[in-house]
Amino acid sequence: MALGLTTFAGAASTDEIVVYSARNEQLIKPLFDAYTADTGTRIKFITDKEGPLLERLKAEGVNTPADILITVDAGNLWFAAKEGVLAMVNSKVLKSNIPAHLRDPENRWFGLSVRARTIVYSSKRVKPADLSTYESLGDSKWKGRLCLRTSKKVYNQSLVAMMIARLGESKTESIVKSWVANLATDVFPDDTKLMEAIAAGQCDVGVVNTYYYGRLMKKQPQADLALFWPNQADRGVHVNVSGAGVTTHAKHREAAVKFLEWLSSEKAQNLFADENMEYPANPKVKPHAGVAAWGKFKGDTINVSKTGSLQAKAVMLMDRAGYK
Ligand code: FE
Repeated sequence: MALGLTTFAGAASTDEIVVYSARNEQLIKPLFDAYTADTGTRIKFITDKEGPLLERLKAEGVNTPADILITVDAGNLWFAAKEGVLAMVNSKVLKSNIPAHLRDPENRWFGLSVRARTIVYSSKRVKPADLSTYESLGDSKWKGRLCLRTSKKVYNQSLVAMMIARLGESKTESIVKSWVANLATDVFPDDTKLMEAIAAGQCDVGVVNTYYYGRLMKKQPQADLALFWPNQADRGVHVNVSGAGVTTHAKHREAAVKFLEWLSSEKAQNLFADENMEYPANPKVKPHAGVAAWGKFKGDTINVSKTGSLQAKAVMLMDRAGYK
């Protein structure tokens, strides 16, 4: 974060790449070190939230030192591409390593790890047989028993965008309204607080990203929480990605593409996914045993770029439905 632009000035050698990352240092530094050890290519980076990073890329324009942008959620990757800061990359390696639905149809960004946004429930008060789909969380039996995170978070905007893609706008709106009617309490600022509320008995079911569940269970293995994979008889669980793209004005484009290809490889995928308890995006790579223990599921195979193209519709729909 403290690296100024001057640090990069004149750094034109091809054995160096500059990364702007919305993932924190603890998650990316081990990867960068492994790549440098493997190839000799040095990696400089800054970390920040996705908003400021994108603003910085736009402001720097052709003068940006950044070769690669790493961020989370396809909604954010889609937006970065729309803002023109990501370049098309035609790579056979990336196309073969990353399934088509986990990357930009125009090849400007590529999913590198997968997270499911799924149902979490109290294993004390709910039986898995009581659960089935995201839609059914609007059933009257969940009245006063549902907890949700704020609709301001891109993860929920992406979830609702995918429902619009699959079910249409009016059906999705009535589902979201039925969720709001079932809320036990105000929406939560983050997934962890939501799960703590379930563990504390404030509500019985909710929707969270899998890795937050993993983090909480690591800290509190006794918590009476379990994951449920919804919509297994139809479209599957909503999956999203963290991913990356090469910048439009990359000074080390070739080296940056090579690095992305390496990130998608069998060698690097566990390094990318495991530290945050995510699933590898490359289907040839198995998830970490601790993640695999949550069970197998069918994920939705609709292209994750829809989270971006339908995001504005999703935001307006959630507002109309009274989802705060
Ligand atoms: Fe997250």
